[in-house]
Amino acid sequence: MSKSKTEQVKPNQSNLVTFLLIIIVVGLFFLLMDEYEKKPLQADVYIQAGHEGRLVGNTGSVSAYGREIDWTKIVADEATRILRNAGVRVIRAPADQKRESVVLLALSIHFDGAKKACSTGASIGLNNASDRNAARAWKRIYRTVFPFKWMPDNFSKNLKYYYNYRYTLASDAELVLELGEMSCPEQARWMKPRLKKLGALVAYFAAQRVGASGVEKPVF
Ligand SMILES: [Zn+2]
Repeated sequence: MSKSKTEQVKPNQSNLVTFLLIIIVVGLFFLLMDEYEKKPLQADVYIQAGHEGRLVGNTGSVSAYGREIDWTKIVADEATRILRNAGVRVIRAPADQKRESVVLLALSIHFDGAKKACSTGASIGLNNASDRNAARAWKRIYRTVFPFKWMPDNFSKNLKYYYNYRYTLASDAELVLELGEMSCPEQARWMKPRLKKLGALVAYFAAQRVGASGVEKPVF
């Protein structure tokens, strides 16, 4: 009788030990994953496609010519492809990567939408005086091809207090590039067939900033 009792207890105990071990291993796994997530990413250039990956919240502008969320992806992908071909390390981020990135240059690609069509144009967002040099350089480049108006730097709250600045630590600059107003028919008609070229221009600019050679300026 007593012998059979001890025989019954043993398997229960080993089940409990196995169960606890599994809990510990799973717990450790999630702890390590969490630490890994917190580790900053490092590269030369960070390129974010504005609004990419969002189904709710600020999903970007929409006009008769397309959706901002689709346009930013085309520009960011083309810029990334060209830069990587030139040996530049690129972090290609969606709207909500929420992970710190340490880079030389961080760029967030957007297109503006305005309630009153054609009231805006191209613009730049920045949050530090040290970003101004790169901002001026981008304006010099984009002014030569973009045949519409420019808004002052940080003309909107979304540019001045861009939510993603906190995730990018850039030694050269972190900029939001609004490439034009897609709710303005003239601007949208000019931009839509040139989205890949805009990506090539962003790549050219980024390559210049990080000192990479072999990225040509696209002809518009
Ligand atoms: Zn946007």
